[in-house]
Amino acid sequence: MAANPDPVPAQLPEFQAEARARHLLSIGTRLTLAISLVIALGFGGMVVFYTQQQEKNILLQNERAINQVLGSINQGLQSVMLTASADAVRLFADNLKRVEEIDEIRILRPNGLEAFRDNSTIRQVNDYRDTEDFKPRPREEVNRIFATDDENLTHAIRSRQLTFFYDTQHDNPHLTFLLPIKNLARCKRCHGRDQEVLGVLEVRSDLESVREQVRQTWRQSMLVLVIAVSAVILIAAAVLRRFIVRPIRQVSHAMSRIASGDLEHRIPLIGRDELSRLAQSFNTLAQELQQRHAGFKAEHNKLATILMGADEGIVVTDGAGRIVLVNPAAESLLGKPAPRIVAEGLLQLFDAPARIESALQNAGFVGAKDIFVYRHRHLAVYASTLRRQDGGMLGHAVLIRNMTEAKRLEQSLRELSNTDALTGLANRRALDETLKQECGLALEQDRDLAVLMLDIDHFKNFNDKHGHAQGDRVLRQFALAALSCVRADLDTLCRYGGEEFTLICRDTPREGATLLAERIRACIEGMRVDGLRVTTSIGVAGLRESGATRPDELIEQADAALYAAKHGGRNRVVAAGSGT
Ligand code: GH3
Ligand code: MG
Ligand code: MG
Repeated sequence: MAANPDPVPAQLPEFQAEARARHLLSIGTRLTLAISLVIALGFGGMVVFYTQQQEKNILLQNERAINQVLGSINQGLQSVMLTASADAVRLFADNLKRVEEIDEIRILRPNGLEAFRDNSTIRQVNDYRDTEDFKPRPREEVNRIFATDDENLTHAIRSRQLTFFYDTQHDNPHLTFLLPIKNLARCKRCHGRDQEVLGVLEVRSDLESVREQVRQTWRQSMLVLVIAVSAVILIAAAVLRRFIVRPIRQVSHAMSRIASGDLEHRIPLIGRDELSRLAQSFNTLAQELQQRHAGFKAEHNKLATILMGADEGIVVTDGAGRIVLVNPAAESLLGKPAPRIVAEGLLQLFDAPARIESALQNAGFVGAKDIFVYRHRHLAVYASTLRRQDGGMLGHAVLIRNMTEAKRLEQSLRELSNTDALTGLANRRALDETLKQECGLALEQDRDLAVLMLDIDHFKNFNDKHGHAQGDRVLRQFALAALSCVRADLDTLCRYGGEEFTLICRDTPREGATLLAERIRACIEGMRVDGLRVTTSIGVAGLRESGATRPDELIEQADAALYAAKHGGRNRVVAAGSGT
């Protein structure tokens, strides 16, 4: 066969290679990257949240610590102030700066100026007490710490509550507490009753150490984050590889094997998860495929055996008209090798493209039949169109049957049916056909036609005296002798029946036929069969001369002339309507 369709398309592995090229990253890598991203984001978020909480805690602890210190400072300050020495207050404040958490401590007036730098309070107190108990400073300073309307200062004084704020704008970030100094009963003795808040205690704490703690927390958190994320990613990658990537690869590998024709390949089953069930389904599918493939192969082999062993030639094309199958019988019947048949194409099968084309055009579902005489063979050609169930064309099929022998048999049968077995001459059936045909032609074309009726004289005697076998020999010799007298191209000698014969003479007028009849008669008379003399009487009729319009009329005329010859004494020729 020229073509044997492969059950597994060869393009599949190429397709897979293309798909692989399109996704350079393996599924494992992609999954690991996706999970890593999620883990990193999750852990990162947690670390950021935790670190921010830590930062808040650190700041809160710092606030609390300073707050506690502030309570002590407030009490100490009031005690110092009661000593009625402004310089003692400054000294107290300078000493407090040595406290670790405190970088700056100042007593401020409600207007934002630093107290104990000028003599305004001393004068106020002395005026109120109407004494000179408090001695003014020899050198005054004006040190503005806050603007008069500073919102933090205003808030601390109005609310009479501890107020704090972070200043992170400057190079040296710090936390500032503003503790209102209330005008208590014991203070009113010197400061009067007008003011509820005498000033604020400003305590400033440098945030650098706090920031360093926060940075430290961030560094530790990041380290923990990197280690934790790396560990989780490694574990996730290992788990992914073991439980997802490997089973998927096994399925993918198995599909490639199946696609490349290894239908026996199966996936080892481990576990009961979805991938395992997928592998199980795949195995079932592969088994089904294998069974069907085996079935198809068996059918294919059967079909191939039938095609290879068929006596009929089979040529099949695909939908595009390309020859896809040529069986050995077709090669033998066409006398061409399959590659040449494929190369020449379907239309050139019998070197008669137009006929094949018309046969294919007429080929319905049942197909069209045509007889080709090709390379001395009679070939019956059945052309049909192969269609799918939906009506779409699959291709054409041409079946070639060798009819040469059948034709020969048919021919010999036809000859037998038209031939007289004893003499080998045309029989009565052939005579009727030939005479009808010749008569029609002669009348149509106004040509001459003559008929001779010949009857062996006293033939019965041969049978009676010498037996039927002798009679048969006489008949055969008579036929041969008569044949030797006639013109092969114009005359047809037939056995009419018994010992009577008819000669049809084309393009011959009655007179010419009479001469021929005489020649035959003389020939027969001169002939000896086993030493026995044979004579014949002949009646002649001419178509034109007799005026006959039908073959039977012509025969009747010749028969009548023969009758006359018999009555005239036998061994003679009589022409109808001639008076002889
Ligand atoms: P006539 O001169 O009047 O024609 O006499 P005849 O004897 O020839 O004619 P008749 O019709 O009386 O006899 C013909 C005989 O031919 C009768 C028949 O038995 C014999 N006959 C017919 N067909 C055959 C044949 O095939 N073989 C043989 N041996 N005899 C045959
Ligand atoms: Mg007779
Ligand atoms: Mg006779």
